[in-house]
This record gives sequence, C-alpha cells and structure tokens, in this order.
Amino acid sequence: MRVMAQLAMVMNLDKCIGCHTCSVTCKQTWTNRAGVEYAWFNNVETRPGQGYPRRYEDQDRWRGGWQVDAKGRLRLRAGGRLRKLLGIFANPLMPAIQDYYEPWTYDYENLTRAPLSDDVPVARPRSLISGEPTAIRWSANWDDDLGGDPSPDPVLQKVGDQVKLAFEQAFMFYLPRICEHCLNPACVASCPSGALYKREEDGIVLVDQDRCRGWRMCVTGCPYKKVYFNHRTGKAEKCTFCYPRVEVGLPTVCSETCVGRLRYLGVMLYDADRVGEVAAVADDKELYEAQLSVFVDPDDPAVAASGLPADWIEAARRSPVRELIVRHRVALPLHPEYRTLPMVWYVPPLSPVVDALAGTGHDGEDAGNLFAAIDALRIPVAYLAELFTAGDPAPVSAALRRLAGMRSHMRAVNLGEEPPETGMRPDDVHDM
Ligand code: SF4
Ligand code: SF4
Repeated sequence: MRVMAQLAMVMNLDKCIGCHTCSVTCKQTWTNRAGVEYAWFNNVETRPGQGYPRRYEDQDRWRGGWQVDAKGRLRLRAGGRLRKLLGIFANPLMPAIQDYYEPWTYDYENLTRAPLSDDVPVARPRSLISGEPTAIRWSANWDDDLGGDPSPDPVLQKVGDQVKLAFEQAFMFYLPRICEHCLNPACVASCPSGALYKREEDGIVLVDQDRCRGWRMCVTGCPYKKVYFNHRTGKAEKCTFCYPRVEVGLPTVCSETCVGRLRYLGVMLYDADRVGEVAAVADDKELYEAQLSVFVDPDDPAVAASGLPADWIEAARRSPVRELIVRHRVALPLHPEYRTLPMVWYVPPLSPVVDALAGTGHDGEDAGNLFAAIDALRIPVAYLAELFTAGDPAPVSAALRRLAGMRSHMRAVNLGEEPPETGMRPDDVHDM
C-alpha cells in the first residue's frame, strides 16, 4: 500500500444560493487578466442546464480523446497518436470559444438613456474586447435560474393537465464547479510536454508555465473541461486550489468568500497503488463504491508506516471532508464514470417535497414529514444519480434519507417534539 495525502473539497448543494460570489472572487484573484477573460476556474451552473463550457458532459463530442485501458491507465484512442504528433492543428476535439462565451457586457447606455416608449429597452450584449454589439447567444450563466422538468415530451407539456404536471415537476438547483484535482488526472496524462503535474505532498494539479507549449491536449483530455487556454500567453491555465493560500493555512478564495458557507476543505488519505485498478472497474455503477475503497483510514497501521508528516495524518483524522464522504456517506463524486477519480464531492440537494405528489397534505418541511416523503422530492433521484453515481439511484437515495432523517430529527428536537422514527443510528443524527 502506498499511502498519499490529497486535499479535497465537499460542497453541500442544499446551501448554494447561486450568488456567484465564489466565481467573482476567484476571477478577481486568478483570471482577471488579458487572455483569460472567458475563463472561470470556479463557475456555478444552473441544473438542469448545459453547463460551462456548453454541453461539456456530452463526452461523445470529444470522442477521439482519451480512454482508460484495462490497467486503468489513460491512453490515446485510435487515431489519437497522429493527433498528438500533429499537435493543435489536428486537435479539433476542444470546446470552441462560442462554447465558453465571448466576454460581454450590457449596453447600459441604451438601458438608462433610451427614450420613453411602450417597450422596455433591451440591452444587447456588447463585446468587452471590441465594444461592438455581439450576436452572442451563450455565456457561462446563460441558462441561469431556468428550471427544467423531467417530462420527455415537450408537446404533451403544452396541453391541459400536462402543463400543470410539468409546472409541478419543474426543478432547479445550483452546481458550483472547480477543477477536481483528480487522483487519476487525464490532463496530466494527456500533456505531451509534461507541463501538468500532480503535487506529491497534497495532490494539487498544476501547470508548469515554463514547460507548457500550448498543445492544449489537456483541454481535450480533461472530461470536466477545467483547463483553459490563455490566448495572450499561449499557455494552459487552471484552478490551483489556491495553493499559495493553502500553504500558509488559509482556505481557498472560493471557500472563504462563499455566502452559503457550503464548501468544506480537508485532507483525504488514499492508496495510490489502487488508483489504476479502480479507474479500470468495468461497470460504471460500481465506481462510487470503488472510489470509496481507495481511501485509507488515518488509523490504519500502513499510514503510520507511510512516512507522511504527523500533522497531515492528524488533519486527515479531523477532516470534515472524510466525515461527509466516508463516515456518513452523504457526499458523492461528480461523474465518477469519467474515471479520473475526482476529489471535489457533493452533498446532493435535499429539495422540497412535491406535496401534490407526496399526497400527505402536509407541508414538506414539517418535522417528521420530510423523511416520510423522501421518495417525492422535487428533484428526481434519477437526475442526481446521472450526475453523481453513473446512474445508480441507491447511493443517492441513501444519502438523501440520511439528510432528511437528520433534518427531521433536529427540527423535532428544536420544537420540543418526539423525534420521528428514521431508523438512523443516534450518532448519525448527533454528529452531522
Ligand atoms: Fe485535470 Fe480536469 Fe481532473 Fe482538473 S478536473 S485534475 S483539469 S482532469
Ligand atoms: Fe453558491 Fe457559495 Fe458560490 Fe454563492 S458563493 S454561488 S452560495 S458556492
């Protein structure tokens, strides 16, 4: 067993209000420069939505990039070697600038000085670079606050009861994203120049600016599309997990400025010898459990013999991230089927109960009722499972039940009522 330490993050999606403060403070700190105007190391997506860059989860679009071989190693697909040799001219499998957006601002002059008329003035986006009106039809938050509904038939939604049903079933939530600082990073594997590397001491994935030759294979290779090309310097850039702050004991900028206080930082210990084996698990639906199995308990005898600094082992013991991921199992990985073993995990949103569907006649927030109506939550478990467990609903339902049980329990306690029967262990509800 080769025990290594990894800095990790858990985000509690129930607490995200979509204010984008994290994105703005990150941008002010890291990408407030020419060449990366379009880049958001931290972005907040509205779900359901296309994400940023647009449709990044449609992995078929990037077909021809990277695949995992039987030993869990990332390899170029057939034809990939030629692309690697020919470089960027033969590397079309990247998002275009239109998939990110051209940086724009509103035509505020038109908004504030338009003459009185029957119509509300419309502010056309203007290019931040040329100043001219743009024909832009997309940006990082273009579908901000638009809800989706699970009904597959848009025609049916337009008639009678279906309209009501579609309205009742509409749902939305926010998904903040940064680089996953993966245990098996595709960006590192794809770089022909060896410019991308994963730090031994804490697992942060960085770009060596002196070695980067601008091939952009990392942009193609990262399934989360979290490497950006600086058009001014000709180099790749990405989220640094705010390593200059972390090294002096400060949290990342996005964590410190998060209005919802929903980002937990901590140390995870893992067995580096098992990463390839887990990435090569054939059945997507087994990947969540498989990734859990690479984590090592800080009190495992192998940890003491690993040579890791004592303060890192102690940090892993006290890590809130470990509590949420391993002990309570309420945090889940984003798209484990990408097989890069991501290390930013999410507590799924415990959305309101759809009363009409629950048929309870109660407010879904009543003590006890939330747990009872867990199967009638507004956000479909199947949708969350597509995001977090490669389509397996069981771990998502289990996490939601634990969250609902805790919330029902605490609400009853605070109201001086008898806690509802949730089947949870006492330390589950008291320690969360
Ligand atoms: Fe690399 Fe992408 Fe993983 Fe970040 S999310 S470590 S850029 S593969
Ligand atoms: Fe969500 Fe926090 Fe970012 Fe606001 S600052 S959008 S609450 S993650």
